[in-house]
Amino acid sequence: MMVVCSKNRSGSYYLKELPTLPTQRRHSIVADPTPDDGKLLSELPVYQKEESDKTLIKTAIQQNDFLNKIISGKRLDDVVNAMYSKEIPAKEPVIKQGEKGSHMYISARGRFQVSEFGDVRVFGELAILYNAKRLATIEALTPAMVWVLDRKIYQQITVRHNIKQQDEVMEFLMSNEKLKVAGKQALQEVASLLKPEFFKPGTQIVRQGDRGDYKQLYCRLVGHKFFIIRAGTVTITKDGEGTVGHCKKGDSFGELALFKEDYRQATVTADAPGVECLTLTRSEFIEHFGVLESWTDVKILPHNSLGAIQTKHQDILLADLRIIKTLGTGGFGEVVLVQHKKLSDLVFALKYYKKMDIVTQNQQEHVYNEKTIQMACNSPFIVRLYKTFKDNKYLYFLMESCLDGDLCSLLQQQKLKRFEEKETRFIAACVLEALEYLHSRRITYRDIKLENLLIAANGYIRLTDFGLAKNISSRGKTFTFAGTPEYVAPEIVLNKGHDRAVDYWAFGVLIFELLTGRTPFRTDDDTHMKTYQKILIGIDNVRFPGYVSVKSRHIIMKLCRPIPSDRLGMLLGGIGDVKGHDWFKGLDWHKLERCQITSPLKSKRKTRVDTPQFQIKNIAEAPPDELSGWDTEF
Ligand code: AMP
Repeated sequence: MMVVCSKNRSGSYYLKELPTLPTQRRHSIVADPTPDDGKLLSELPVYQKEESDKTLIKTAIQQNDFLNKIISGKRLDDVVNAMYSKEIPAKEPVIKQGEKGSHMYISARGRFQVSEFGDVRVFGELAILYNAKRLATIEALTPAMVWVLDRKIYQQITVRHNIKQQDEVMEFLMSNEKLKVAGKQALQEVASLLKPEFFKPGTQIVRQGDRGDYKQLYCRLVGHKFFIIRAGTVTITKDGEGTVGHCKKGDSFGELALFKEDYRQATVTADAPGVECLTLTRSEFIEHFGVLESWTDVKILPHNSLGAIQTKHQDILLADLRIIKTLGTGGFGEVVLVQHKKLSDLVFALKYYKKMDIVTQNQQEHVYNEKTIQMACNSPFIVRLYKTFKDNKYLYFLMESCLDGDLCSLLQQQKLKRFEEKETRFIAACVLEALEYLHSRRITYRDIKLENLLIAANGYIRLTDFGLAKNISSRGKTFTFAGTPEYVAPEIVLNKGHDRAVDYWAFGVLIFELLTGRTPFRTDDDTHMKTYQKILIGIDNVRFPGYVSVKSRHIIMKLCRPIPSDRLGMLLGGIGDVKGHDWFKGLDWHKLERCQITSPLKSKRKTRVDTPQFQIKNIAEAPPDELSGWDTEF
């Protein structure tokens, strides 16, 4: 924290803490694409090992504060099986500083040093999420042995578990005659709302005669819910008749609770040793689908399609442009300000990527996504991409230029290193418009952060950098780790599969950062492991500064819910629920859409190519040619 001297209302001076801003721009992280179900191995690898070795691996994982949150249950068994042993001669490094890691290790025998250790411990664990640079070298001091887990296998384990779980749930739903009529797509949506719950033996899960509308609290807990049995059995009894039936794995009960606020017709009791159910409350069901009468009425909203085609500036060639200065740097390249050599009024931002980097980091698919998605967008809240070029070394994106810089720089210029609520609301509203445009076209953006929010000449905010954007439609989820550490949602850290709900999480993080000058889950840990731990612990444990209003807290808390389907924006009203939140009260959305509200953000720029807050940099040395031909369609 930085301490400054401020004047209070009574005129006296006092010391005040200011948030320390990120000095470096925060880079996005994207793992090499995680296999979807089509590319899964038919069998997971199993390396035979002694029971004592299994216990050693399990204990090491369970004692690691990060891993014990992401690997447990069946996942843990699969990880234990998939770890193989490797002998390390004395004086040999296991991991080397600066190298990109793709394996996690557990020390089993021997002594190692960064600072010397000889106990059983996990190291290099971040590598199971993505290609993270090793921050230190770890060397064996004596002949040693480690257990090794390959990221590719870890990804296979997590994806398989999730797909298996989804398939299992879908199978339950589709095998149920009553539910089947809703159709596969609608049931997929239902499946995403289900939550696991365990009932001890003897628990009356449903009680005959209970009604949803007179005991609100009780009903929220057990009353008006729909249940599908995942493991175990239940006994159904009726007053005066005794046992009338049993239900087992795959059976469901209580579906009428979703459609009617009626009395329960029977009592359902969990048998020994307990029963695990997937449950859905009436209120959640209604929030997502409305008040319905039967499964036939369950519908999902239609989506717009991407289709806008850029027509402006199509005749411009790379040779027509000259570089003026660097505007910024992103994960894979730089953005430069360029001017048309003959028509000096034409000024653009030109982003260029080294093709070699794209290929070595296996990002071809993401780059294609970036082009097709941004090129097809035509919204006042999204930076226009007019045209792309390519040569032997680079791919180029010709975009409209936003010369007032990005919000990261603007935040640094604020006196208190944070924005007022009025400014924050305006910025957030612009971002929400961009999200609405994208989500209605099934695009998940995945990289909301200050660095990607540019200020247009009219003071409005435009979203840029579509490097992580993705059309998520097929199974409704994607598994590749993607985002900027402080902004990623828990389901990304957990590798559970994610969808557009991650944008609402990041939107909550953004509002927090705009209001306070720092993101809620930020830590000083360069590896981001502590940040990920904080994300998994959740927003309920984050301290809000006293000056953050109740309404601001409320919207942030509603957006940063740990379960994706619970987030504001993911309920029945969709993005309309976010726009309708009290925090936005008084904002004329109609006027905003037409850019008819005066922006509270003030520009310091005087002329067209005057870009005061950008640094002039030399363009990096030319990379080698990349001629493998993957970019023929680009
Ligand atoms: P990107 O690689 O797209 O994330 O861009 C990196 C940085 O370059 C951004 O944070 C901005 O500071 C700057 N930048 C990107 N696009 C533009 C643009 N169209 N106009 C002005 N500056 C830009």
